[in-house]
Formats: sequence, structure tokens, C-alpha cells
Amino acid sequence: MKEFETKTRFVIYENERELTEQERELLALARAAAERANAEYSHFQVGAALLLENGKVITGNNQENSVYQGLCAERTAAFSAAARYPDVPFKTLVITAINPKETLTKPIPPCGACRQVLHEYENKYGKNIEILMAGQEGEIWKVMSAGELLPLSFSSSFLPVQE
Ligand code: ZN
Repeated sequence: MKEFETKTRFVIYENERELTEQERELLALARAAAERANAEYSHFQVGAALLLENGKVITGNNQENSVYQGLCAERTAAFSAAARYPDVPFKTLVITAINPKETLTKPIPPCGACRQVLHEYENKYGKNIEILMAGQEGEIWKVMSAGELLPLSFSSSFLPVQE
């Protein structure tokens, strides 16, 4: 028998004052995007701000509807960015959320589907995406890549080679 272990390194900031100015700006944009979320079913408003290598920032928020065919804030931002700037790698993604019933004091992580999608953009561009996760207050957590949040991830390398 063998065993296999993976590690994920998180950088933990006590609050947003410990962030760089650029990270604070991205967090402010993510918070503003969360305010605009279409979260009429979950009432959980998520906002994302994605900084691209060309300096552009694309924001996203969750988009919900009655048939549950909505999309998370992170993928809304990522797909919008890739649609507008198809050859520009992603640099930094900041995620936050608003719970109108109770102040969120824990960092909000991306769901599994968003981790997969973000990691595939890392593979596509050969560039890691720093991900910062914030609640409404309290600690902010950072990982240096989406891949670190998705050990043993599936990728196109498993697919059969096309003749
Ligand atoms: Zn998601």
C-alpha cells in the first residue's frame, strides 16, 4: 500500500488593511459587484473582481433564475474576461459575498465547478491565478493558484488523443 498527501498553502491576512493597495481596490470592486448580484433565490450575493495581465479588471456576480440555471460570480467574471480578452491570462481573482441576514466573518471560497474552470484557464495560459477570499469582515485568505484548491484535478491530458 502507498499513501499520497497534498498540501495547500494559505496566506492569511487579519483584515483588508494588510492587503496591497491593488488588492484592496479589487476587493472594493468585488464588494460593489456583490451589491449588484441577481441572487433572488439564494439571497447570497457573491461578487468577484478579476485582474487580467493587461491591467483590465472584469467583475462578476451570481446570476440566478427560477430554473436553477444560473452561474456563480467567479465564472461570470472569468467567462466575461475570456470573451472580451481571449488571449490575456488572468492574474488575480478576489471573491467576496454578502449575506443580508448575517454578516459573513469567514472567507468565501469558490465552489468546485469554479475551481475546475479557473484551473483550466491556468493550464490554458500557463499562468497561475492568485485567489483572495473574503467575507464581509474578518480574515482574508489567499492561495497562489486555483490548482492548489483542486488537488488531483481532471484535465484534457486524460482525454483520448484526437487523430
Ligand atoms: Zn462557483
